[in-house]
Amino acid sequence: MENEFAGMIGFSKIPEDSGFKKDMKNYVNKKYKFAFVVLPILYIIIYQITAIITGIKDEINYARMLIPGLVLLGIFVLVALVILIVYLLSVKKLEKGAKDGMVIKIKKQYKEDDSIKKCILILETEDGKKIKVKGKKAITVCPYISEGDKVRYHYGYPFPVEIYNKDASGVNVCPFCGFENELKSFKCAHCNNMLLK
Ligand SMILES: [Zn+2]
Repeated sequence: MENEFAGMIGFSKIPEDSGFKKDMKNYVNKKYKFAFVVLPILYIIIYQITAIITGIKDEINYARMLIPGLVLLGIFVLVALVILIVYLLSVKKLEKGAKDGMVIKIKKQYKEDDSIKKCILILETEDGKKIKVKGKKAITVCPYISEGDKVRYHYGYPFPVEIYNKDASGVNVCPFCGFENELKSFKCAHCNNMLLK
């Protein structure tokens, strides 16, 4: 992996910074902590709504809600388990670091106002592995890259694609929130985290 950085051309050394690594881990953690706070609240709200709906004709009878309540609880525990597995996988991904590669295919779909609706990127890493990037992760960098461009893929980052020639793209996409920052910025104008430069 190359690390030379001249102007805004090159891959950033920031990902090796211990402060940055800590910030990224906290950022990913926070997202999942939020899910685990929201899930029990959602369960209680949905349980109450179900109780009210089933009790509309007569008085609400919570004993009658025992079975639907348990079924609902089961569903929520299952969802929580899935989120937990996804969380553990993303922490593991972060530990994988980054790989350099090239954009070998870009598939774009436009909206009526010419903004990008869908974007799929296929990257090929130096060791010949193909990585498919889609959704918001791809849309944020899509307008600034072409097939054949050099990129670095950071495993586990919310926005994992680092453009090699940021000078040509004219923006520096935040690896945390995907905000398009000015090239001269060191911190993201949206989430205040360190940028790759
Ligand atoms: Zn940001």
